Amino acid sequence: MARILEIAELGAPVIRQQAATVTDVHDHQLQAFIDDLFATAADENGMGIAAPQVSVPKRIIILSSHPNVRYPYAPSMEPTAMINPEMTWGSSDIHKDWEGCLTVPGMRGLVPRHQTIRIRYQNREGVLIEAEYEGFLARVFQHEVDHLDGLVFLDRVESTTDLVTEKEWQKIIAQNRQS
Ligand code: ZN
Repeated sequence: MARILEIAELGAPVIRQQAATVTDVHDHQLQAFIDDLFATAADENGMGIAAPQVSVPKRIIILSSHPNVRYPYAPSMEPTAMINPEMTWGSSDIHKDWEGCLTVPGMRGLVPRHQTIRIRYQNREGVLIEAEYEGFLARVFQHEVDHLDGLVFLDRVESTTDLVTEKEWQKIIAQNRQS
């Protein structure tokens, strides 16, 4: 039975730690942990989660994009576990858009990210997968992989004036929807 794990927030040392490469994908404890991470991502209704966000400093992320109010065109994807994920190429085309994070509650920031990326990872069966992502999925992937290197979106904003509280962000996106 999968467990819902507690989210580590900014200030927890694990959030600033370099996560370790996974060497044995088939390990039973690791597979059970991936189930817990899926359950936690579903419970939080986030677009993704990284293992350090539940205090496990290992290079594992889950991407679980689905359409929502802010991103009505976000692709719907089967939640996917990615082990030892890497970006192998990033376009010079950089876009800024809003991000939030379970680990940084109550804040949103305008974060520059590569618009198109090429990636590779192992799936939970240990098969090496290569893919190209653009736009929203590319953004979520870059956000989650940053967590494996001890980075949060606050580290990526160009200016602290690109940071807003959740309450003010709600007003901004409501205005954008009207215009
Ligand atoms: Zn995050």
